[in-house]
Amino acid sequence: MARYTGSVCRLCRREGIKLFLKGSRCETAKCAIEKRAYPPGQHGQGRKKFSEYGVQLREKQKVKRIYGVLEKQFRNYFFAADKKKGITGENLLQNLELRMDNVIFRMGLAASRSTARQLVRHGHFTVNGKKMDIPSYSLAQGDTIALNPNKVKKAPVKNAIENIKGKTLPDWLSFDADSKQGIVQALPTREHVTMPIEEQLIVELYSR
Ligand code: SF4
Repeated sequence: MARYTGSVCRLCRREGIKLFLKGSRCETAKCAIEKRAYPPGQHGQGRKKFSEYGVQLREKQKVKRIYGVLEKQFRNYFFAADKKKGITGENLLQNLELRMDNVIFRMGLAASRSTARQLVRHGHFTVNGKKMDIPSYSLAQGDTIALNPNKVKKAPVKNAIENIKGKTLPDWLSFDADSKQGIVQALPTREHVTMPIEEQLIVELYSR
């Protein structure tokens, strides 16, 4: 499946905020936003004023990049959210939060969503007892995520367990290090999305 392979720090600089795409490096002085807080490229320090469309577009790009989703898939998330009952923007964020790779990241089992994505792809987790290696798999309330027993001795899984020590999980998720399994306790709501996102702008963009 297609994925972005360029520099992820450029994406943060383009959006003008930390998107936390590189795990622990994002918390250090090496973060590119700390060093060069302006857009990348020759004209990065030039004009900064956006049109209304430009503002909406940037918001959509930001959310896509946070969750590591490409355009077509993101559009599909939007249409699915639009069909659901409730507020479209909030439905969109909920659907993105329920992605398997995001849940692994939010459980603290990976330092970034891209690392979580790789762990899922390599078959390190099961959902309700069955191996699940699809990062975009949409989890539901009550689903149980566990470490794949065939892989518990592998370094990435040991690291994952180390990662969760001392982490505070969002209250819609739980993870027990002894039994090596976690549960989606509830559906995430708007309040659980901690990144600064104005989802209404995305709804306006797709409603043009
Ligand atoms: Fe973004 Fe992290 Fe790179 Fe900083 S280190 S620019 S937060 S990806």
